[in-house]
Amino acid sequence: MSTVSQAPSGTELQELAKRHLWMHFSRMGGYDAEHPIPVISRAEGCYVYDDAGNRYLDGLSALFCVNAGHGRSEYGEAAARQVEELDFYTLWSYAHPRAIELAARIAALAPGELNRVFFTDGGSEAVESALKLARNYHRVRGKGQKHKFIAREVAYHGTTLGALAATGITELRNQFEPLVSGACHVPNTNIYRWPEDRDPLWAADAIEERIVFEGAETVAAVIIEPVQNAGGCFVPPDGYFERVREICDEHDVLLISDEVICAWGRLGHYFGCERFEYQPDIVTTAKALTSAYAPMGAVIASDTVAEPFMQGDASFAHGFTFAGHPLAAAIAMANLDVFEREDLCGQVLAKEGEFRQMLDSLRDLPIVGDVRGAGFFQAIELVKDKETKATFNDEESERLLRGFLSGELYRNGLICRADDRGDPVIQLAPPLIADTPQFEEIHDVLRKVLGDAWDQVVA
Ligand code: PLP
Repeated sequence: MSTVSQAPSGTELQELAKRHLWMHFSRMGGYDAEHPIPVISRAEGCYVYDDAGNRYLDGLSALFCVNAGHGRSEYGEAAARQVEELDFYTLWSYAHPRAIELAARIAALAPGELNRVFFTDGGSEAVESALKLARNYHRVRGKGQKHKFIAREVAYHGTTLGALAATGITELRNQFEPLVSGACHVPNTNIYRWPEDRDPLWAADAIEERIVFEGAETVAAVIIEPVQNAGGCFVPPDGYFERVREICDEHDVLLISDEVICAWGRLGHYFGCERFEYQPDIVTTAKALTSAYAPMGAVIASDTVAEPFMQGDASFAHGFTFAGHPLAAAIAMANLDVFEREDLCGQVLAKEGEFRQMLDSLRDLPIVGDVRGAGFFQAIELVKDKETKATFNDEESERLLRGFLSGELYRNGLICRADDRGDPVIQLAPPLIADTPQFEEIHDVLRKVLGDAWDQVVA
């Protein structure tokens, strides 16, 4: 056991963290005097500060979360007012005003008949809940055999066993098998790696082929992100979602739009499906619903999906003690006030061209193979050879991303994601208040560090 003084020094924090804190998805054994744990202790606007006072541009919005930017005291004030009024009550058989108001506000913003909001504590819980809802929806309609769900290769949908079954990343899945049964995977829209003459709707048609292969009478839902995060911001080709919607309708399969990242302005709209003009049956969301000032997620179901659970003695036998917590709901309301007042969605639509142009200007670097994405959600794919699009093997990728880029980008004051769950990519998703000075800063750091990576690691 260690004792903690009132305000631990930087060195003490390092020691305590190494001894007691279990960081997520982190190689805890990799931290030592040469490689200290990054401790972020303060934040403001688009910037965060470590415990030594060094400033970093938060080019990832703290994992796609803090869309409204850091350090807004009005969110804390909303939380403080809420504690005075009602600290906590659960949504199990009771309601409270903030959850009711927030559900109504989300329903008003969500497109079409997405009118019923089931709160969760985060994204994995939202996906888990949506998958259970899809199965249960078919069962109460007398189609209980419809239990399978179709997701895409390399997609990340969370870590709970159901959400993990939907996740299409082998290294994350195989350590925890057996997973929830019934998950099937189909190709994603990694257009950069498609042959030039490939039918753009090939990946949509692959969903139908899989439904038919499995037997439509066994398939409950298709779960897809508007822009797929893992693999590096895969955007859909024109007509993709229109076709997916048609396929789902034809086979009585629900379309779940996993918008844990893509909602709340990330793509310039409240919901990612609005950008690509499709109507899901269920939306899952979390992260920026509160701009992450408090943990909260939600499943937003269409009236049609919710309807069987709203009659007589029917109920959706599922829930979480803390979901829809009054503090989180009050903060989400304050967050949506900021979105409206500052027109953050409009800001993204107005500035995404400039952001993208800045990233496209890096295409002259030998390591930059592709730049892709939508809104303030963009990726750069790194290659060994631009002409052939040759990628890095596992060992090279490890050396490039974890051996060099992650550390160098951070040392140069930029937090972004260097990731190889598909081919190696750098991902950028700054707060929606980012503007020309932040774009220029991102450009300068990327140009230097990607240039050095080529000279020192690849060439
Ligand atoms: N779904 C998607 C698309 C995500 O990107 C994530 C997390 O990044 C999740 C689900 C899981 O969310 P959480 O980490 O809040 O459980």
